[in-house]
Amino acid sequence: MQASVLLLKPKNLVEIIKIQTTILKSIHDFMTDRGFLQLMPVLTSTVTDPLWPDPGSTIEGTPKIKYAGRELTLTQSMILHKQVAVAMGLDKIYIMSPNIRLEKSFRKITRRHLFEFTQMDFEIKGASMDSVMSLVEDLVIYVLERVKKERAEELEKLGRDLKIPSKPFPRYTSHEMIEKYGKEWEETASKLHDTPFWVTCFKREFYDREDPERPGHYRNYDLIYPEGYGEALSGAEREWEYKRIISRITADGLDPKNFEPYLALAREGLLVPSAGAGIGIERLVWFATGAEHIGDIQPFRRVPGEEIFL
Ligand code: AMP
Ligand code: MG
Repeated sequence: MQASVLLLKPKNLVEIIKIQTTILKSIHDFMTDRGFLQLMPVLTSTVTDPLWPDPGSTIEGTPKIKYAGRELTLTQSMILHKQVAVAMGLDKIYIMSPNIRLEKSFRKITRRHLFEFTQMDFEIKGASMDSVMSLVEDLVIYVLERVKKERAEELEKLGRDLKIPSKPFPRYTSHEMIEKYGKEWEETASKLHDTPFWVTCFKREFYDREDPERPGHYRNYDLIYPEGYGEALSGAEREWEYKRIISRITADGLDPKNFEPYLALAREGLLVPSAGAGIGIERLVWFATGAEHIGDIQPFRRVPGEEIFL
């Protein structure tokens, strides 16, 4: 192994990975107790999340590989696969899903971006945004309580005083956030809160459902950590009807050809209503441990714009 990797070993790595292990175990316990089935991740595919037009996304492009005479994309998120899995009769699913997102180099300074990370991505047939938000609140409280109880020694060594939030978390709309803190509201609002909070209603990717009763409003939601840690999770109720999906794809300036295998199912009326979300694992470990930069929780750093050693 290169000596440089060992020299770059994050401070308190063992304590951090112990906390990460408790976080992963408690997520699995929570999800399986609630009746979710776990799917294996998909890493190569004919379709992936376009991450456009998400105002938070700044990728250089979608990574592609050539295999067996065709082009496949690497997974940016499994959102489209989740919808199809639910349509297969898997009503409540979760996946520890590795995502590759070629974040632009300047994102090194946000302290919360990696170009390779894992999200715990879940989806529930027929669910409403309120029921998903309530489930996420229970999950976050459960995981943080277990970390506090089972890893008290490690938290103390890290000097992290982890506060357990109480339900329900505060809720705002993105319009309220922009009005109060401007377009770059995420970091400012996060610093001014001492509890996780929700922000709802974003105009972003085509699969997040537009409110049929209030066009121009969206039934989606982000969970934001307090203390400046920023976005924890994004989720939404989903579009499932072909005519709505295709009109959103077209309005976003995306090429429908890139989504054809998924669109073919929608066209046949085979997609079903669902809602879900994805919570970033490294972000959760970063928040729980109070590390300075998200890369500081990784034995093998994957920070945009930094050297990659191993
Ligand atoms: P998204 O659906 O794009 O919001 O991604 C779901 C979650 O994954 C986010 O809320 C973050 O917790 C996490 N995430 C997204 N992009 C990154 C990134 N570049 N680095 C680390 N975590 C990320
Ligand atoms: Mg997001």
